[in-house]
Formats: sequence, C-alpha cells, structure tokens
Amino acid sequence: MTTVSTQKERNIAAETATRSVSGYIYDLKKYAIHDGPGIRTTVFLKGCPLDCWWCHNPESRDPKPEPRGNMRPIKNLPLLEGNGHSIGAKVSVAALMQEIRKDVLFFDESGGGVTFSGGEPLMQPEFLIALLRTCKTEGIHTVVDTSGYIPFRVIKETAPWTDLFLYDIKLMDESLHKKYTGVSNRRILDNLLQMDQGGYPLLIRIPLIPGFTDTDGNLEAIRNFLLEKTRIRDVELLPYNSMGESKYERLGLDYRPGKHAMPAEEEMATKRAFFREKGFRVRE
Ligand code: SF4
Repeated sequence: MTTVSTQKERNIAAETATRSVSGYIYDLKKYAIHDGPGIRTTVFLKGCPLDCWWCHNPESRDPKPEPRGNMRPIKNLPLLEGNGHSIGAKVSVAALMQEIRKDVLFFDESGGGVTFSGGEPLMQPEFLIALLRTCKTEGIHTVVDTSGYIPFRVIKETAPWTDLFLYDIKLMDESLHKKYTGVSNRRILDNLLQMDQGGYPLLIRIPLIPGFTDTDGNLEAIRNFLLEKTRIRDVELLPYNSMGESKYERLGLDYRPGKHAMPAEEEMATKRAFFREKGFRVRE
C-alpha cells in the first residue's frame, strides 16, 4: 500500500534525522565571553587541518577521540560515552542540544548564543550544519569560529545558519604561514575574499604570538590586505596567553614557540590603535 506523507510528517522525519546526526567534540565551555557577542556556550569540535606552532588546543587536531593521558574529561557532559577515557567523545545533536538549551535564559538576557569552535568545526560539516540548523530553528544566535582552511562550498553551506563567522588571519607571508601552520594561506585569503563579496557577517581575529604573528610587518600587511581588498572593518586582536604552554606539558608535547610573557596592556592598546587609525572597529 502506498502512503502519502503530509508536509508535517515530512518535517518531523527531517527533524528526527537531524537530531540523530552525531559528531566528535572534545570540550564544551559555558558562560564564555570571548567567543562572540554576549554570554555563550562554546562547543569545541574535534579535528583541524592546520598544525599551528602556538595552538592552545593540540588535543583538537586529531579528528577522532585519542588516549586521554592526564587531560581532564569534558566536565559539562559527564555522561557522554567514552568521556573520561579518551580526549573527545561522540555526541548526537539531540544530546548536545539538551545541554545547550539549559542556558537559553543567559543567551537571551546577554545577546549571546552558541559558538562552534575547534579545531576546525567545518571539518565536520554534516554535524555542524545539523547543530546550526537546530539552533536557528530554536532562535539561538550562532557563531562559527574558523581557520578558513576548508573548501568554500562547505563555508557556503553553513552560511544560511550562521549569524557570525570569527575568521582567523595569522600570517600574510605565505612561506611563513606554511612553516608555522603547516599549510599555505592562499585558500584562507581566497575564501575570505569570497565571503566578503557575498556579504557574510565576519569578525577577523588575529592571534598575537610574540615574534611570529605580532610583528609590525605582519600586522601592517594584514591591515593593508583588509583595507585594499575587502570591506571588512571589524577586527579583534587576541593577546598571547601563556596558559597553553602547561597543556603541552600535560600532553607530553614540545611547545615550539618557546616561553613568552603575556603582553602589557599598553602594548595591546598600541596595536589596537594601529588598526583604529585606519577606521577599523577593534573589539576588546
Ligand atoms: S587553526 Fe586553531 S585549532 Fe587548528 S592548529 Fe591552528 S590554532 Fe590550533
């Protein structure tokens, strides 16, 4: 017998399918205030195609869970299968949304929402899009924090469900970018140009790594690129944070940039002023 499904039945079937999609995460941070507007829940997806020397989350790079060593389990999702035995765990959209919904009140009151970070969250497009769609359906503001090193069609697929992209620019010199991140910056810059042309909502984030990305020459090259090639005027400078070094120790890995002090506030103010003098809006 042939059954003719109604639109409502088809919607329910589509929603059920979305909620059963699953992917790999390695952390979930609540009450985050530096990952987009307002108070946010940040979900850290596993897997990254880059290998930045200064990466604060080296446990993010492997796309699948890996031996935990002495890293802590994901504290906000204690019941996840595998959590506590490995770095990262598989989680369904439905389970993750249950946790996310607990903080909707904070999102609403602060103008916040959910940020999907990594690793590189766009490396799990089906999972990410299912999460983004579900959030948007429920009226939750969405941010995607990306390295930009991903096929443009994947970025394009996520765009309808993304309120803001946090987009990293690390180094303008291609050979230095290859040396310190493992990949060329061409795809990253090309994607950024396409996103700008398409009117995507963008906030550029520049990690300031002493002696690597924070040099006057690199910051000037980034500023000139944005001024000359794009309409993007929102930037954020991310001060170096030495806390990442201790994580490398716990993981038994070498911290390749070496030890550095955190920047003084005057130094940050000078670097922010460098962008502001050309009309950029610099987030703090
Ligand atoms: S892009 Fe980000 S997550 Fe990936 S290696 Fe670089 S700093 Fe780490």
